[in-house]
Amino acid sequence: MPLRSLFRPFLLLAVLAGLTTGAHAQSDAPPPPLELQILGSGGPGAVGRAASSHVLRLDGVPRILVDAGPGAFARAGEARIPLARIRTLLLTHLHADHAGDLPGLLKAAAVSGRGPIPLRIFGPGGRDPYPATGRFVELLFGERGAFAYLPDFSAPLKLTVSELSPSESAPITVLDEDGLRITAARGHHGEAPAVAYRIDYGGRSIVFSGDMDEAGLPALIALAQDADLLVFNSVVLDPPDSPAVLYTLHSPPAAIGRAAAEACVGRVLLAHIVPAVETHSEAVLDSIRQHFKGPVELAHDLQRLTPGAP
Ligand SMILES: [Zn+2]
Repeated sequence: MPLRSLFRPFLLLAVLAGLTTGAHAQSDAPPPPLELQILGSGGPGAVGRAASSHVLRLDGVPRILVDAGPGAFARAGEARIPLARIRTLLLTHLHADHAGDLPGLLKAAAVSGRGPIPLRIFGPGGRDPYPATGRFVELLFGERGAFAYLPDFSAPLKLTVSELSPSESAPITVLDEDGLRITAARGHHGEAPAVAYRIDYGGRSIVFSGDMDEAGLPALIALAQDADLLVFNSVVLDPPDSPAVLYTLHSPPAAIGRAAAEACVGRVLLAHIVPAVETHSEAVLDSIRQHFKGPVELAHDLQRLTPGAP
């Protein structure tokens, strides 16, 4: 049988199956300017949720990753995120449950991309025993790093690092280009250097607290003023129902509610969910609602959310 006749039935089947480009159902509505997808909504325990990681789509294109916790690699595949298109990585702090999947995610980006992949990495400065973000990236991907082979293994990875040390008094702008503005405030997570981020694009805004104890809240409130969405990592119950040491690392629900109200945010999404918060979710939400009158809910892996949408 001539080759051409074999192709024709295949082409017809491909069109019917929607396999060819352009055969997908097209929606007339443009994508929202800014959209969040949760890759990992969990905490450090391996209890079913991936650990902290979020993707932001700008005009429908995944461009920003916030944290890269364990499990993000698998969820990124399930969400069909084209990782080679991510241009910015924002690290809130360098605990393993926020940065542990970085090598796997970068290798996945490299093997799926063609041309060079420029990736800007923002993260905190260092404080013993925590390396600064530049040192952290060097230890992984530098010339003598654990994965030194990776930047030139497939599509070249062009990594640039900016270390952020915002003062406690005012947020700083870390990126302002093509309508995208990223600002940062000093986080507070016990002894770990930490940064909270705000992303503004297309008239919409999202703030990520990272893991934050109550000492970080004044700076967060300044950063989050009038934001459409506040993603807050919720790890402890109101005192005294969680171990005392955890209050040196995380903010309880009543404090989250007060901060959200004071910042006048439109909506709160609780992330980094641990089993205690999951089990007592109604009490957690009730406590937040005592102070914050807008919508508040627990995140789940792969959830998509458009800030500012009704
Ligand atoms: Zn954490």
